[in-house]
Amino acid sequence: MTVVGECSLCLETGELQLGHIIPKFVTKFIKNHSEAPHKRLLGVGAQLLQDSPKRHMFCRKCEQLLGKDEKLFNENALSDAALFSSQLRYDGWMLRFAAGLLLRTMIDNRALHETPQRKELERAERSLAKFLLKGAPTGYALLRISVGIQDPERLTSTRMRTPYEQALTAGTTWGVRTHPTGQFLAVFAQIPFHVFWMPVVPKRVKESEWQNVKIRRRGVFDANQPQVCPVEYHRTIDFLLAETEPLFRESARRADVRQGKPPTTERRSA
Ligand SMILES: [Zn+2]
Repeated sequence: MTVVGECSLCLETGELQLGHIIPKFVTKFIKNHSEAPHKRLLGVGAQLLQDSPKRHMFCRKCEQLLGKDEKLFNENALSDAALFSSQLRYDGWMLRFAAGLLLRTMIDNRALHETPQRKELERAERSLAKFLLKGAPTGYALLRISVGIQDPERLTSTRMRTPYEQALTAGTTWGVRTHPTGQFLAVFAQIPFHVFWMPVVPKRVKESEWQNVKIRRRGVFDANQPQVCPVEYHRTIDFLLAETEPLFRESARRADVRQGKPPTTERRSA
């Protein structure tokens, strides 16, 4: 079925491709690295899904443009070498990958159309699109949070997630978060080992409050460096992970039961 419409990146009207919200290599990675073929994708409303939903978002040219950086991210950030190293060196692909992934997430959340925050989301979408198409600097801070999550009991310290905890969050979820007061709005996408996060309101961040998480044109993420984020954002991120962990854990347990294996949790702690 041919779908004709406006491409959400270049704004030209033409044939739109059916593209994944969460790139296919992420789904593949999850399937390949799961001990059992269980469901590890979450959609809206915390539903476990087998595959990433698809939408008609971009024209062929624009899907290909995003695909280039998605390929580089896959080769560099999800390679075994990268996953076993505490340092991740990156180049322009990291910033463009994050922008593309968060743009897809925003398009998937256009159901928020009637909300007052919708205007802010539309502005953010256009800013990311201009950055992706023309390299125009985006005023929005693109953040990447990895293994360092603050300890909710001691908000001044940073707790590193253990490899086991990371394995439990090795699914994916994506969405838009609003504060109950409507005061901040952020777009996020969690994929294995990475949480991408973009505050929409306010769009800039104080570097001192977000240490070691801002994505630059090139740089290095060091898992040994503490990562910091403001308390209210931390609570949201922690809530997000707390929501996904039990679901992934339960999904893994069921898959083990089906295959007649001892539960994954017992094998890991043994
Ligand atoms: Zn296009």
